Amino acid sequence: MCPEYSVSDLSISSNIDLHSHTHCSDGALSPAALMARAVDNGVTTLAITDHDTVDAFDGLPAAPGSLQLVRGIEFSTTWGSVGIHVLGLDIDPGSPAILEGVSHQAAARERRAERIGANLAKLGVEGALEGAAHHAAGSNIGRPHFARHLVDAGITDSMETAFKKYLGDGKAGDVRESWASMSQVVDWIRAAGGIAVLAHPLAYKLTRTRLKRLLNDFIEAGGEGMEVVSGQQNEQQTRSLGQLCRDMGLLGSRGSDFHAPGQGWKELGAVAPMPERVSPVWERFRQPPA
Ligand code: AMP
Ligand code: MN
Ligand code: MN
Ligand code: MN
Repeated sequence: MCPEYSVSDLSISSNIDLHSHTHCSDGALSPAALMARAVDNGVTTLAITDHDTVDAFDGLPAAPGSLQLVRGIEFSTTWGSVGIHVLGLDIDPGSPAILEGVSHQAAARERRAERIGANLAKLGVEGALEGAAHHAAGSNIGRPHFARHLVDAGITDSMETAFKKYLGDGKAGDVRESWASMSQVVDWIRAAGGIAVLAHPLAYKLTRTRLKRLLNDFIEAGGEGMEVVSGQQNEQQTRSLGQLCRDMGLLGSRGSDFHAPGQGWKELGAVAPMPERVSPVWERFRQPPA
């Protein structure tokens, strides 16, 4: 599939996907359905990394077959005025640090949802908070829940348009002041025994110089890894992130950022292999993949 990559022995016999979402945040599938889909797709190790919550691990059924499940989280935070996401991989979801983290972020999400609702009301969109809450169905509210409401109410024709017009960068629904700081979320992850990994580094649209600055600050805060392979990236971008990962002395991660079936490149397990000579983050897990 990607002839330019030399694939390490490990990635030939395994398919490790360390970034995915369930309906406990903004994903479509239950944790059990997500694990079943992972097995169908040939994924051998799967991390569930919901936005700011570990609810997926409450009463989670045993992983099917030989699937190895990794407990994770994707924390929302900011670097300067840039909203960024930090993955915590191989965490203990029941640890006091994670419980503190998720309750802090849940309160932040609640306040933020109210502000998003108020901002949208000013633009003439009524009832958005209630609509988003309906779609969140008891879990933390995120912008995709507002997007679904905008589509349902016939205000926009797609989620994509909802983000473009109302929720994306610089728009009324782009409210992000209230997240915990980057060093705080890294502290929570480390205190929970986990490894902090910068998610989808290209999503922030930073110049190479600013991305390096972000990574330096992240390392200073205790961050240890970055996603080198992510959904929605081309081969050249992946190669370049592999180089950056080595230069920065970070561990490399690989994850699809799967949310729902039918989203093309972001399918479970359907991402490029790890570029060679990147130290894989999974070798540092308390139970490295078999
Ligand atoms: P939030 O966690 O509330 O900040 O919402 C961010 C989430 O919105 C991301 O994790 C994506 O799942 C989703 N998202 C971001 N941009 C878009 C977009 N353009 N179209 C659809 N979903 C998006
Ligand atoms: Mn999401
Ligand atoms: Mn993300
Ligand atoms: Mn994600």
